[in-house]
Amino acid sequence: MEKETKCIHAGYTPKNGESRMIPIIQSTTFKYDTSEDMGKLFDLEASGYFYTRLQNPTNDMVAAKITALEGGTAGMLTSSGQAANFFATFNVATAGDHIVSSSSIYGGTFNLFNVTMRKMGIDFTFLSPDSTDDEIRAAFKPNTKAVFGETLANPAMTVFDIERWAKVAHENGVPLIIDNTFATPINCRPIEWGADIVTHSTTKYMDGHDATVGGCIVDGGKFDWMAHADKFPGLCTPDESYHGITYATKFGNGGAFITKCTAQLMRDFGSIQAPMNAYFLNLGLESLAVRMERHCKNGQAVAEFLESHPQVAWVNYPGLKSNKYYALAQKYMPDGTCGVVSFGLKGGRKAAEAFMKKLKVAIIATHVADAHTCILHPANATHRQLSEEELIACGVPSDLIRLSVGIENVNDIIGDLKQALG
Ligand SMILES: *Cc1c(COP(=O)(O)O)cnc(C)c1O
Repeated sequence: MEKETKCIHAGYTPKNGESRMIPIIQSTTFKYDTSEDMGKLFDLEASGYFYTRLQNPTNDMVAAKITALEGGTAGMLTSSGQAANFFATFNVATAGDHIVSSSSIYGGTFNLFNVTMRKMGIDFTFLSPDSTDDEIRAAFKPNTKAVFGETLANPAMTVFDIERWAKVAHENGVPLIIDNTFATPINCRPIEWGADIVTHSTTKYMDGHDATVGGCIVDGGKFDWMAHADKFPGLCTPDESYHGITYATKFGNGGAFITKCTAQLMRDFGSIQAPMNAYFLNLGLESLAVRMERHCKNGQAVAEFLESHPQVAWVNYPGLKSNKYYALAQKYMPDGTCGVVSFGLKGGRKAAEAFMKKLKVAIIATHVADAHTCILHPANATHRQLSEEELIACGVPSDLIRLSVGIENVNDIIGDLKQALG
């Protein structure tokens, strides 16, 4: 199936007389005829459901759709993108371990890594996504367990050279984890470029309608855990909490990562997505391919309009030929990147404030990657505690306006920007 068809059909095939839409299994628990039947589930000897804190059939149908879109072997939903990135990294790294991460990542992920996971004893080295192969190699330590980056970074819009980073990660015997939230599998499939694990905040384009917070993890199934068994004891030695099964041997390269993530992390942290939210996510996924096409078309037109406007000082959009990441964007996302454009006005912060007040179509919101065009002036909102110098240091200058171009008629979006620019 092509990706547009997978958006509609993957993950659930109704049998004769069954509901066309995925059923919402709104149940915490599942009934069995005998204790022996249930015992097999607890021993991971049989697959099935027993408690929605770990797994739910509705969630699994939706995860299977995203897995098909990404070209993976197994997947799971989580309650949020934050939970997805925490699980994906914590599944391979524990206290005393180290992870190499791109420095150009979502602020929430940076905080998760740099503050909270450090408190859990996991060390991080942050590198520019533009680092040379030798600079990346130099960051590895004997206890390094993974490499992390974002295909298209939120909000810096840097493009991550997945193929190059995957090669260096594999030279060092560790998997590459890619957060593919902004590109979505419609525009980029990181597994095809060598990534091992893909994560998503499904809250963004996948849901696409401001309706539900969620996340997803997909395993590409190619990383050979047993070939690096010394690095990954959690996957390659017996789990005493499951009667001594070894995930990598019992479930193979295609299933070990997600099974461990479900059986241990979901069991213990319980960050499951509500089945009702998974249903809404599935509705969003059905139109993902057509929406992404429109987001990219509108985003490109808006970026070109802004670049040609005399009041605009600069525009950052990887679809513009003038952009530093244009060539990489063409390689990884030839059909378009996404709808997020950032820019600055010639009058700086003051001009940005005046401009924001005049907008009528674009709504002021912290959210991005959604059907509705939304806009944020971080220096006056999410980053308002920071000084001018601190704003520059974290890559969010005081004149930066982040515009998430929606799927309205582009003439209305550009018309709104035009009247607000004055
Ligand atoms: C929003 C976002 C997250 C966090 O996702 P939530 O669903 O808000 O928890 C992670 N990564 C990226 C790239 C994001 O844009």
